[in-house]
Amino acid sequence: MEASEAKSKKQGASRLCCLCNQRRPVLKRPKTLQQICKDCFYEVFEEEIHQVIVKNGLFKAGERVAIGASGGKDSTVLAYVLSELNRRHSYGLDLFLLSIDEGITGYRDDSLETVKRNELQYGLPLQILSYKDLYGWTMDDIVKMIGLKNNCTFCGVFRRQALDRGAALLKVDKLVTGHNADDIAETVLLNILRGDIARLSRCTSITTVYIREGDLHTYAYFKKLDYFSTECIYSPNAYRGFAREFIKDLERLRPRAILDIIKSGEDFRIATTTKMPEQGTCERCGYISSQKWCKACVLLDGLNRGLPKMGIGRARGGANGDHHKETKKPASAGRSLESKQCGSLDF
Ligand code: SF4
Repeated sequence: MEASEAKSKKQGASRLCCLCNQRRPVLKRPKTLQQICKDCFYEVFEEEIHQVIVKNGLFKAGERVAIGASGGKDSTVLAYVLSELNRRHSYGLDLFLLSIDEGITGYRDDSLETVKRNELQYGLPLQILSYKDLYGWTMDDIVKMIGLKNNCTFCGVFRRQALDRGAALLKVDKLVTGHNADDIAETVLLNILRGDIARLSRCTSITTVYIREGDLHTYAYFKKLDYFSTECIYSPNAYRGFAREFIKDLERLRPRAILDIIKSGEDFRIATTTKMPEQGTCERCGYISSQKWCKACVLLDGLNRGLPKMGIGRARGGANGDHHKETKKPASAGRSLESKQCGSLDF
């Protein structure tokens, strides 16, 4: 009798949240494998972000901070949590939402409606910059000209610069963007596979709070956050998809695989003899560039001249000098990794 009472007590206890030991657990965190209740999940999720902010001295009181907002889950959670922490811990930040409209009908126009609702829900001023206004081209126009190959190269390069331009326009001190740990691990792996040392060091040099996609999804779901979850209609599904599948397979064997891949990227030692690109400014537009012309200007020049392939790939065309003519690749040439990844993560 005593043994069965003890057993049922033990079973009852094991059904309680392993952090507060009071409420029923509603989830098992992929990161820690702990069974925890909703309230404890909110607490640890938000506290982990707060601790990274505090330990790394990410912000100073009075700073203006732009949050890159796409309307997707990652950036919506970021906007919500950062505005909550700013209020709760009195960071003293002026927060803004910064959205880039690539001009993708049926995708970005819908997701921007979500960001406009977030503007009201979180009380954060919203600035939207469009490719059409900045470059004279929408992604719809670009895809009409170049098709569905290399479209993400144009989109990623233009977005990166558009965010810089938006940050300058808003006169912010910092720009924060939301990507989940699973996506960062894919980016590390892709940069290793293509031997791109510069991008590999960039993608892990940013101060980052690593949150698993599963945790982000659960947080957004429990909090009933308003986000947009449709995939881009021009999204490629080649190499990033392969990397994703490979990482998922690794994770089945070793649950910490995603965080370990990111750590490997962070710990990667670059030989001091390796020549890294020096950051300067573009002679044409004045924004950040390691070449005479920035990549956005080279790509734009190609588009405007009706030679869109100019400037794609590692060899720089146009003003940066390597070739001015579009060259046909032999049919046997393999598909370029660079041209096949979603530029939204192309650090
Ligand atoms: Fe742009 Fe991403 Fe769509 Fe590619 S998948 S066109 S980078 S939004």
